[in-house]
Amino acid sequence: MVYALRDECDTMATASGYRNELEREFGKQLFAHVNRHRAFENSDSLRLQTEESALKMQYRKLMAKDSRDEEALYQVFRKLIETRCELADSLGYDSYIELGYRLEGKQDYGTNEIADFRRHIQKYITPAVAEIKAKKMNFRHPPAVPANSRELISAISAMFKDLSYETGTYFEEMMQKELYDLESRENKRGNLFTCCMLPHAKLPFVIGNNTGDGMETGYAVHEFGHGFAFYTAARKQPLWEFHRSSPTVNETHSKTMEHFMFPYLELFVGEYQKEYKRNHLMQQLENLAYRCAIDEFEHVMYDRALSRVQLCELWADISRKYIPWNRIPPEDIRQGKCWPRQTHIVERPFYYVQYDIAQISTYEFYLKMKNNYEQAWSDYMRLCGAGGSKSYSELLEIAHLSNPFAGSTLENICQPIVEELYSLL
Ligand SMILES: [Zn+2]
Repeated sequence: MVYALRDECDTMATASGYRNELEREFGKQLFAHVNRHRAFENSDSLRLQTEESALKMQYRKLMAKDSRDEEALYQVFRKLIETRCELADSLGYDSYIELGYRLEGKQDYGTNEIADFRRHIQKYITPAVAEIKAKKMNFRHPPAVPANSRELISAISAMFKDLSYETGTYFEEMMQKELYDLESRENKRGNLFTCCMLPHAKLPFVIGNNTGDGMETGYAVHEFGHGFAFYTAARKQPLWEFHRSSPTVNETHSKTMEHFMFPYLELFVGEYQKEYKRNHLMQQLENLAYRCAIDEFEHVMYDRALSRVQLCELWADISRKYIPWNRIPPEDIRQGKCWPRQTHIVERPFYYVQYDIAQISTYEFYLKMKNNYEQAWSDYMRLCGAGGSKSYSELLEIAHLSNPFAGSTLENICQPIVEELYSLL
């Protein structure tokens, strides 16, 4: 219903003949959003979209079962890929990859830049992580200092109040209106951290868990970071479409907040600050490599039809390249049991790698915090305030961030991070 209204607005805006005037008032990004919404304009696509949703549902059901029926999973998976390719074809796209990129609102970069990005990760990050993994160290999680969700909220409140006037005001309102649920309890989904937006109220709502794991306190701060960015943009940007950007930018907001948390770690993990930082840096570097593996898998998957065993062979090959520490028993390949079960592959193709791109900008913010904290904070505020009102490269410029795809940017940014991790081992 809401989408139908939105589509009507899009159609009116496009047909109005006032495109220039609208762009002058709201910026060019307005029609970039319209363009993304209209990726599906074709009557036959509705049937295929319905089919796609039904297949996703079937897949979820099969995954939720205790004993997995590999062949049934594969059949649904195969059908899903076929449906998506057919959908792209019916809409006149060269491939589903092209449609997938458009649906994700990827702007200013394409498959070539992404392939290059993955190569850089494979070259610089994979060997560093593999070397640390070979040491077989214990990355045990430190316990959380806050004993319950109420104490966790007061720790985050103390951090946000001290961090800046803006974060203090935001958190005050979040507390007053109790816009969070961090309590772990029976029948609540565990290990779920998310931030929803209440567009009408221009307020976020944070859902999390609190099991006493110190690393989890950072996941909660991450979600409140999303909330802060949304809250800030919603007060600066006139259109709802501009209150959030693409995950490439949104995840930079939230991941960077995890680093603004570092000076306050005592509140969250007490004496285990070093362990927290070590685990945090290690987790993120490992994720960089893992997500690139998933991304490459997603690209090849839509490129050619593969049998169950071929799908496993493909995953094994890609794993060896990016995440060699993830050893796959040859037996599992032969039996066709080891293609990745990452839900994003089924739910939202080409989405996951955006976290990696955001991670590079996050590291850049982190390095800036160390060299020029004031500058880092004001750049961060500018990025949050701009929301999704500008294109990706314009937002990078606004926040004085380098383009993660350019030249040796990735290497230059990641090198001191790897060094810092080594100093904490
Ligand atoms: Zn996030």
